[in-house]
Amino acid sequence: MFTVLPLPAFNDNYIWMLTSADHPGMVVVDPGDADVVIKAVNDSSIPLVAILLTHHHPDHTGGVKQLVDLFSVPVYGSANSPFKEISQPLTDGMQISILGKALVIKEIPGHTLDHISYYLADETSQIFCGDTLFLAGCGRLFEGSPQQMLSNMDYFKTLPLNTQVYCTHEYSLANLAFAHAVEPTNADISNTIVRCEELRSRNLPTLPSSIGQELKINPFMRAEICDVQNAASNHTKSNINNQLDAFTAIREWKNSF
Ligand SMILES: [Zn+2]
Repeated sequence: MFTVLPLPAFNDNYIWMLTSADHPGMVVVDPGDADVVIKAVNDSSIPLVAILLTHHHPDHTGGVKQLVDLFSVPVYGSANSPFKEISQPLTDGMQISILGKALVIKEIPGHTLDHISYYLADETSQIFCGDTLFLAGCGRLFEGSPQQMLSNMDYFKTLPLNTQVYCTHEYSLANLAFAHAVEPTNADISNTIVRCEELRSRNLPTLPSSIGQELKINPFMRAEICDVQNAASNHTKSNINNQLDAFTAIREWKNSF
């Protein structure tokens, strides 16, 4: 697995910095801010060798041009992206070699249509999933449909339970407050709130999460569960009894929570 360090940026972004014990160089995921990465390169004396992008939003791509001008590194991203600095266009199912390890590309449209994730299968697997799967949440649907986002959740459910989930934002406490509103009697959610509050009180990241944890606490990964469907029914004052309607209802509910 990669050694992964968070480089905090803006209010609540993490630029993930990847290194590997058996391969020189560092790779960054979604460098919205070049200065943060330049400082990490200077402080560590590890050269930047590649940039991975999950989607086109400026808080994920804003530093790319400056970093490419400075370090002449390849930029991996979706072949469908409107972002112009991508030199290595990727499509669903492709495998790329990063720091000597094979990453599998999955198209996960919903938050944006060009959204992709990068998955490393290993004893402890890792996924870099941008603004799609958050700790106890999922990305807002700016460009895609609830059905697309629900399909992404189905993909995440196929990954090993111990897969480490590296999303881009420190949204965990707000997401957990919503998850608790959906499932007030879910003890895993309450326990995770306590743990994350403690981490945040020491200014530490609550990430990575894991697929196993998300299956227990994330309402968007739990839309097939009765309690979640009942909460969706109560909130919308309708009779919701399937996964897609429940997912759609709670995604809309979260927008105004
Ligand atoms: Zn985004």
